Amino acid sequence: MAKSAKSKVDVVVIGAGIVGCSTAYYLSKRGAKVALIEKGEVAGEQSSRAWGWVRQQGRNPREIPLSIFSKGLWSELSNEINADVEWIEDGSLKLAYTEEEMAHFESWAKEARDLGLDTRVISASEVKELVPALEGPFLGGVYTPSDGQAEPRKGTEAMARAAEENGAELYSHRSVEGFRVEGGVIKEVLTDQGGIEADSVVCAAGAWSSQLGRMVGVHLPQRVVKGTVVCTEPSEIVSHITVMSPDVTFRQKRDGTFYLSNGLRSDYYVNRESFRDLGLFLRNYLRFRRNMKVHIDGELVKDLMRGLPWSSAQRHPFAHTVDIEPEPNSQHVRGALRSLKNLIPSIGKLGIKRTWAGMIDASPDATPVIGEAPEVKGFYFATCFSGHGFALGPGAGLLMSELILDGKTSIDIRPFRPSRFRDGDMADWTKTI
Ligand SMILES: Cc1cc2nc3c(=O)[nH]c(=O)nc-3n(C[C@H](O)[C@H](O)[C@H](O)COP(=O)(O)OP(=O)(O)OC[C@H]3O[C@@H](n4cnc5c(N)ncnc54)[C@H](O)[C@@H]3O)c2cc1C
Repeated sequence: MAKSAKSKVDVVVIGAGIVGCSTAYYLSKRGAKVALIEKGEVAGEQSSRAWGWVRQQGRNPREIPLSIFSKGLWSELSNEINADVEWIEDGSLKLAYTEEEMAHFESWAKEARDLGLDTRVISASEVKELVPALEGPFLGGVYTPSDGQAEPRKGTEAMARAAEENGAELYSHRSVEGFRVEGGVIKEVLTDQGGIEADSVVCAAGAWSSQLGRMVGVHLPQRVVKGTVVCTEPSEIVSHITVMSPDVTFRQKRDGTFYLSNGLRSDYYVNRESFRDLGLFLRNYLRFRRNMKVHIDGELVKDLMRGLPWSSAQRHPFAHTVDIEPEPNSQHVRGALRSLKNLIPSIGKLGIKRTWAGMIDASPDATPVIGEAPEVKGFYFATCFSGHGFALGPGAGLLMSELILDGKTSIDIRPFRPSRFRDGDMADWTKTI
């Protein structure tokens, strides 16, 4: 049965994914009264569907300080919240197949080292020393020994539990459907089960953040793509280093199962949102177009119907988004398995235990949006983690708590400010690997 919310709290956090749960945890740890509102279940969307890589490697230089900060929290998280999140800190490896890639990795690694990351480019024979089972024409790769992995659902649920133990109130199956703003200041969050007054509101709503932003009069450019994941039957342990190649990425868990993806291939479904901010997303689209299949299909029709004045989506705009199980792309499932067998020929026959898909939210420069919306005092975004939010979640949550309670943060979050797209100050994606 739904609990009835306190009518007034210090902070309402919207969304119980890893970012919202971490934000609620760190705020409540310092005594703030928090209501964490979730339209479905905890970790019902991206945060249970991720591969589980906690990666600093490959990030845009702007994001490296945040990824180091957040990874530091991950290393201690099991102790901090007294939960087994299946943390393993054995590093990550990205393979290079051309001289151009090797050179690009080298220049990225130099910049990353200058920012404090323990990363280095290694030769093919060093790759073989690290993961002897790997085969293929790779020339080498980039290796970051301090990267890790954890189990997404366990990590997120444990953060939610820890926040509740601190006194945060969790309201699942309750949808945020609007806001009350007076004189440019946030006053109240309106849900399908009544309002909650708050001094601050954190929008950690993942794929739905731009829609919530519009409800409060704030523009947030955002796109959503679908990624497919394969979980195999257990096999002998090959390595706990997470490995990325163009056609397959893998993480082998403690129990020997692999989480695989077919490289960075994704599906994009055209909807009404697609016609917004086209210019801002063009560069990112061009970068990923070889890996992205664009679909113009029934999803567009359904979305257009939702825009009609008599649609029930006008009254309950998020009802159609609850408990949705996106369809995995079967080509990507087959491609991931085939490519794993090419990369690790000794792997033998490997059955599929489970496949799933998840919608990944992204900003135009593929780095997060963290900070107060300049248009509405007290309304903050912690969103658009662009496929990196599992790793960055604890760090983002701690920074949000500092920003709200202290008005300053341990690391500079200006590069993630919501207004940067308007200011023309986007991260340079050519510096990402
Ligand atoms: C296939 C896949 C693989 C990935 N692999 C990795 C990886 O290896 N490493 C990594 O770092 N990242 C990875 N990611 C990305 C990562 O999962 C996300 O960046 C991260 O989980 C985002 O967390 P979040 O809390 O912002 O969003 P979410 O987990 O999506 O949570 C947002 C929550 O907000 C709720 N919500 C939305 N609107 C409302 C509303 N109106 N009212 C109430 N609640 C609302 C939603 O129901 C949802 O539960 C992957 C993602 C996918 C899909």
